[in-house]
Amino acid sequence: MRFDVMTLFPEMVMTVLGESIIGRAQRAGLIEVHAHNIRDFSLDRHRKTDDTPYGGGVGMIMTCQPIYDCYKSIVDEIGDGGRTRVVYMTPKGRIFNHGVARELAEYDNLIFLAGHYEGVDQRVLDEIVDEELSIGDYVLTGGELPACIVIDAVSRLKDGVLAAPECYEGESVASGLLEYPQYTKPREFRGRAVPEVLLSGDHAKIDRWRLEESVRLTRLRRPELLLMHPELEEPLLPKKKGKRKSKGDE
Ligand code: SAM
Repeated sequence: MRFDVMTLFPEMVMTVLGESIIGRAQRAGLIEVHAHNIRDFSLDRHRKTDDTPYGGGVGMIMTCQPIYDCYKSIVDEIGDGGRTRVVYMTPKGRIFNHGVARELAEYDNLIFLAGHYEGVDQRVLDEIVDEELSIGDYVLTGGELPACIVIDAVSRLKDGVLAAPECYEGESVASGLLEYPQYTKPREFRGRAVPEVLLSGDHAKIDRWRLEESVRLTRLRRPELLLMHPELEEPLLPKKKGKRKSKGDE
């Protein structure tokens, strides 16, 4: 799968995505990430990419021409490279989540536009963008980190990027439940012991404990997710009076 990001700060994108699992996936040829500097396409003699807003107001607006030419050069480069979707990262967009990541993973090419300053001239958005996505109800200074977040979440759904599909299928939210607490060595840390059941070697018991913990945490923190699993509510949940608390639950 190929990802292209149109940005004023390409190094930001390549640095974030060049590390760890996503960096390895690129080096292994499982995904491709390209960051394009919009400024390189500006026909202005000072390489300007923004201007003041018509109608007045604070801040600068990214202009159409460099973005459009950048987009055209990417499309030419991709050629007949399969299904393509153009995404503008903006707090005005549909909220990104695991379901959206799965939808986007079906494409061969995703082209992202990372905005800056007060935003982007609406006309170029109308011309090239298929979908606007937000990473949440807060405002960042630019769309680079939001684009990186989407690329990371989509990439890990692609074959070979993680060791096995089970690595993401059982995870928080993806499974419809929050993940159970995890433990590793040593058996005791500052007086806190690993739950006995995990040392029992009884895999049926361990699976049941993990499911119960998942349901307990989900009910506590994200009860709306449990609506997707009504069958889990009654038989599995420990009754409320015996509820254990961890620091994070308060
Ligand atoms: N004036 C814009 C508004 O009120 O909607 C906000 C512009 S913001 C300061 C600059 C850029 O950051 C946006 O064009 C967008 O690309 C990116 N951005 C900021 N917050 C975002 C979010 N929550 N999700 C996705 N992109 C975001």
